[in-house]
Amino acid sequence: MSRIYLSPPDVGPADHAAISRAFEGGWIAPLGPEVDGLESELAAATGRSHGVALASGTAALHLGLITAGIGAGDRVLVQSLTFAASANAVKYVGAEPVFVDSEAASWNMDPDLLADELDEGLREGRPYRAVITVDLYGQCADYDRIVPLCEQYDVVLLEDAAEALGATYRGRPAGSFGVAAALSFNGNKIITTSGGGAMVTDSAEWAAHARFLSTQARDPAPHYQHSELGFNYRMSNLLAALGRSQLDDLSRRVDRRRDHNRFYREALGDLPGVAFMPEPEGHRSTFWLTVLTIDPEVAGLTRDDVRLHLESLDVESRPLWKPMHLQPFYADCRMVGGAVSAGLFRDGLCLPSGSTLGDDQRERVAEEVRVVFARSG
Ligand SMILES: *Cc1c(COP(=O)(O)O)cnc(C)c1O
Repeated sequence: MSRIYLSPPDVGPADHAAISRAFEGGWIAPLGPEVDGLESELAAATGRSHGVALASGTAALHLGLITAGIGAGDRVLVQSLTFAASANAVKYVGAEPVFVDSEAASWNMDPDLLADELDEGLREGRPYRAVITVDLYGQCADYDRIVPLCEQYDVVLLEDAAEALGATYRGRPAGSFGVAAALSFNGNKIITTSGGGAMVTDSAEWAAHARFLSTQARDPAPHYQHSELGFNYRMSNLLAALGRSQLDDLSRRVDRRRDHNRFYREALGDLPGVAFMPEPEGHRSTFWLTVLTIDPEVAGLTRDDVRLHLESLDVESRPLWKPMHLQPFYADCRMVGGAVSAGLFRDGLCLPSGSTLGDDQRERVAEEVRVVFARSG
């Protein structure tokens, strides 16, 4: 039996045809009709006016912070429970991340802690300049509360929607919140360009500036002239073609991942100490990954007992993202709260959730999780 992966790329003949079309079109470059096409289709998919196709989601976060004018001496509030890229972008611009714990309801940035800390920043005479929220495992943060707070305190909101393309929050698409949002098309994400990402925004100036910075910041002149620090962050036309064929298939992919989540809940929800990432009312998560938590006191076993058993059978599962405030690299940073994300990290396990995962495969995963519980019971 072949290895079962957490979230492998899902590619097929339509993707192959799209790459061939781009190849035959002759634009073998980081520009061309496929890049333009992908940008407008991504904007449409996220309810935005503009898209900028980039080399990665990390690049989108980096360019977002630069465009917001964040730099040395600034402090940026970042959700602690996330992949390192969300925080690393803050370091790239020389600013300082301050981490915020998650709320139990959505596993995303706790709006009460955010409000307290925005206030604290003002009291200390060091007002925050920006907030990076994360739509963890494909579930939006509580934007009905976070967006007005950011407006009230005049901070730039950037949405890290890398895991959430195709999700909605109160009917609005993930990627539509804040001044700009970052999307990722890494090989393990919901759609992939093998590696790639995008910024989506409603601001024509933001889109133009991000595009300018991503193509080496060349001033309009016949010679090469630069007044700003540029980057080589543009997506290639070949990969943009792949992104378009993948995006065409987005709703099927989200439906499949959601069906895995429904299946795992039904198959494992009765086990002692087992819970799943909640999906609050008004949210429609992509369930990029299905994540369960195992309370060791109730279950009599730990997340790692399950993980190691699955690994011994060539089934990949992973702990949750390790919160940034527990990372050696960020050990010196300020943390607001921390118990919720630390607890989720201790007990949480991501299960195989890709859109290529077969019914027989997920049944096998669930069966083997039950084997571990049966042994310890
Ligand atoms: C994948 C991911 C990113 C980074 O995207 P890349 O395209 O790999 O650079 C950023 N934030 C989160 C939450 C992610 O999951």
